[in-house]
Amino acid sequence: MDKQTRQYVDKFMAELIRKNPGEKEFHQAVSEVVESVAPYIMKYPYLREQKVLERMVEPERVIMFRVPWVDDQGEVQINRGFRVQMNSAIGPYKGGIRFHASVTLSIMKFLAFEQTFKNSLTTLPMGGAKGGSDFSPRGKSDAEVMRFCQSFMSELFRHIGADTDVPAGDIGVGGREVGYLFGQYKRLRDEFTGTLTGKGQYWGGSRLRPEATGYGACYFAQEMLATRGKSFEGQTVCISGAGNVAQYAAQKAMRLGAKVVTLSDSDGFMYDPEGLTEEKLNFVFELKNIRRGRISEYVKRFPSAQYFASERPWRIKCDIAMPCATQNEIEKDDAERLVNNGCYCVTEGANMPSTPEAIAIFQNAKILYSPGKASNAGGVATSGLEMTQNSIRQSWTSEEVDAHLHRIMSDIHAACIKYGTEEDGYINYVKGANIAGFIKVANAMVEQGIV
Ligand code: NDP
Repeated sequence: MDKQTRQYVDKFMAELIRKNPGEKEFHQAVSEVVESVAPYIMKYPYLREQKVLERMVEPERVIMFRVPWVDDQGEVQINRGFRVQMNSAIGPYKGGIRFHASVTLSIMKFLAFEQTFKNSLTTLPMGGAKGGSDFSPRGKSDAEVMRFCQSFMSELFRHIGADTDVPAGDIGVGGREVGYLFGQYKRLRDEFTGTLTGKGQYWGGSRLRPEATGYGACYFAQEMLATRGKSFEGQTVCISGAGNVAQYAAQKAMRLGAKVVTLSDSDGFMYDPEGLTEEKLNFVFELKNIRRGRISEYVKRFPSAQYFASERPWRIKCDIAMPCATQNEIEKDDAERLVNNGCYCVTEGANMPSTPEAIAIFQNAKILYSPGKASNAGGVATSGLEMTQNSIRQSWTSEEVDAHLHRIMSDIHAACIKYGTEEDGYINYVKGANIAGFIKVANAMVEQGIV
């Protein structure tokens, strides 16, 4: 990076931090993008003159609201709800809803910012948004989750709509929560539209939406592996998380011939040296999605496995790592351990799971590394396909949806190669994804004037 570009980046970040104090995750997400796109912006003065990047980091709208509800003991509980509508230059706002105790405005803003670039990469007409609450469904009864979702939607419904803003699931928001949210939305608006995605299959949901993020990440990894003449066949894979993304990443990796040896949750991880099988994975589906249990229970059922409390899976030797739990779950030491143990491909299923220091280690070691905004875009892409099916009032087969998903993931990979290939031939997927995502949104913003 030349001196003038470095000065531009430093000044930009200093101003961002001044205006958004304490929002660590948001600073991190913006910094990664600015580092990638600044050289491109320097080449095109109109982007600087029109302050496109400065406008992109300022959400179009932030909605924060009180979510009161009554628990099963009759006690009043108060949570905080958020919707960050970041950018609508290329389509209606689109992005998931996260229910987790760790949710803050900074996390919402980082996710909404990432979402803008990810949605642009999918080639579908979707703007970027994210929402959620510091409410955690863990340990709550179904009735409590329903009351919370109804209270949350009683405010959110004013701000969303099929052509305005279309939320979906994320951490803590799966089929059950989307159902309760949609039910309340329909009741308040008296209309049945495709305002939420991730809906049940018999009431407007797309086939393969639950599978899409994990499957899409594996399709993306297949493309990356192919650049080195490799495939999943015979490879050992470490996966973190045991939720929606992790479950289907594990299923697809396994079906493509890999041995998946780890899964985790926020309490620890399980290591099964013999690898997952369809039977073992069915146990995980039932454990996590129906009984809502903990991954530690896996080792009670399958004694070939070991459980490590309060640890992450990254010290286990593997060829491919797929972080599918949460942000900043691979830190510098984890990255060093992965590389030293021979891991040569890291494909992110989660959003921003690797810290900047960890990313530097992967890229300096020249291993294959893809950021979530590229490799986990299959989820929102399939949400986009759900919106299309809802609009035309049709339901596509699994094969049709899978073919679209496959094509979208390989198109995203091609875009990363186009904008991210460096002089020595190394594919910098971070740079490729950021520039490809940026160009479309930036040009749309310029063409629409100063709004
Ligand atoms: P789920 O809620 O289904 O699963 C999340 C998993 O991650 C759980 O196993 C959870 O464990 C674990 N986890 C959550 N927080 C932490 C933490 N702080 N430390 C360690 N483990 C944690 O969520 P999803 O699978 O939907 O989402 C996982 C990631 O993928 C997120 O980063 C999300 O933003 C991203 N993503 C999801 C998409 C989707 O379609 N669902 C689309 C694109 C990205 P526990 O049960 O203990 O909380």
